[in-house]
Amino acid sequence: MSIGHIRFIIEETRKSYPVEACGILFGELTGGEVHIRKVVVFRNKLESTVRFQIDPEDFLKALSEAEMEGLQHLGFFHSHSASTYPSETDIRYMKLWPETVWLIISSINYEVAAYRMINGDLQEVRIDVETG
Ligand SMILES: [Zn+2]
Repeated sequence: MSIGHIRFIIEETRKSYPVEACGILFGELTGGEVHIRKVVVFRNKLESTVRFQIDPEDFLKALSEAEMEGLQHLGFFHSHSASTYPSETDIRYMKLWPETVWLIISSINYEVAAYRMINGDLQEVRIDVETG
């Protein structure tokens, strides 16, 4: 993930506030490492300050576009007007999407953290920011 991706996510979080910003992370998986190459932002269908939902049609459109670019779906991002820690709802959905990366950004301090569910265990994922 590049510094540009992080800036983009911060900017979209700021624009969306107080509604949760949300989007999808695309990229490549190489040797167990997740490389985010593309971030697509979507309207939060719920217009909620505590939950998010992406329109399935928008999701499918972005998915097929990314596929044509040789990228796969790796995860999601959304914002919290609280800490970056996943909510109970997040954890429930993370269990439905095992191994996908959930990047959460706090709209309080723009801290960013990533998590994933592996065999029912919540794990924090280290984010390496590539420069350039
Ligand atoms: Zn959440």
